[in-house]
Amino acid sequence: MLLKLLFRSFSSTSKPFKCSAVKAMGRKFTVGGNWKMNGDKATYDGLIANLTSNCLDKEVDVVIGAPACYLEYVRTKLPSTIGVAAQNCFYKKSGAFTGEISPEMILDNKCDWVIIGHSERRQIFGETDQMIAEKVNYALSVGLKVIFCIGETLEEREAGKTHEVCFRQMQAAADKVKNWDNVVVAYEPVWAIGTGKVATPEQAQDVHAALRTWAKDKLSPEIAEGLRIIYGGSVTADNAPSLSKQPDIDGFLVGGASLKPEFVKIINCKSD
Ligand code: PEP
Repeated sequence: MLLKLLFRSFSSTSKPFKCSAVKAMGRKFTVGGNWKMNGDKATYDGLIANLTSNCLDKEVDVVIGAPACYLEYVRTKLPSTIGVAAQNCFYKKSGAFTGEISPEMILDNKCDWVIIGHSERRQIFGETDQMIAEKVNYALSVGLKVIFCIGETLEEREAGKTHEVCFRQMQAAADKVKNWDNVVVAYEPVWAIGTGKVATPEQAQDVHAALRTWAKDKLSPEIAEGLRIIYGGSVTADNAPSLSKQPDIDGFLVGGASLKPEFVKIINCKSD
C-alpha cells in the first residue's frame, strides 16, 4: 500500500519526459537495477508499473536484475525494450551443482543478461577473480550479455590500491574473454555499495578513465573506445545527474534506489 502511494505521488509530481529527445552517444548509456534478494511478486508489480507508466529515455538501455526464481515472472511482465538479468550464474550447462543456475537456463527464461562478480558474491560467497572470469567467459559464449562488476574495498582505497585492484580484476577476465562486445563493466567501489557514501564524480571519473586506458593498452583501442563502464554505489536521483556528466561514466548499476520510484529519474537523468 505504502509502495502504491509512493508511486502515485511520484507519477503526479515528476516532470513529463520528452520522449523524442535523441542524443548523439558513442557508448549507449546503460542503467541496471539490481533488486538483489528483495521483494515478492506484489512488490515487482509496483516496480514494473513505475517503469511502464512513465516515459523512459529511449537512448538508455535499461536492465533489471531479478532473483532467479522470479526471472520468468519479471520477463513476462516487462516490455521487451527492458532487459532482464539474472544476478549470478555458474559456468557449466548442467550437472550436479545444487543451488546453481546455468546461463542456458537464463536464456531458456527468455532473459539475455546476467550480473557477474558483484561484490556481495565476492565477499559473502567467496567468489574469486578466476571463478568470476570463468563465469563471464561461459555466459558470453552461450550468448548472454554480462554486467561484470569490479571494485575496491575501503581498505584497498585507503592503501592507494584502487587502480591495482580494479586492473587485477579486469586482467583475470581478459585472460579468458576475447570478445568484449557484450560486456558492460560496472565499477562499484565496495565502500559505496548500500552505504549512502557515493563516490564523487571526480573519484568515479578517475577510475573509469583509468579503466579505459587499461583497456586501450591491454585489449585494444577499439575495445576501449566502445566499452561501456557504468558506476554503482549509492546512486540516487539526486547524484545521478552530476555523475552522468563525467566523460567516462556510461551509466549506472543501482541497488537500493532501483526499488524506489526515483529509479525512473535515474534512467532519465541525462535528459530530464
Ligand atoms: C549494487 O548493489 O550494485 C549497488 C550499487 O547498490 P546500492 O545502489 O544500494 O549502493
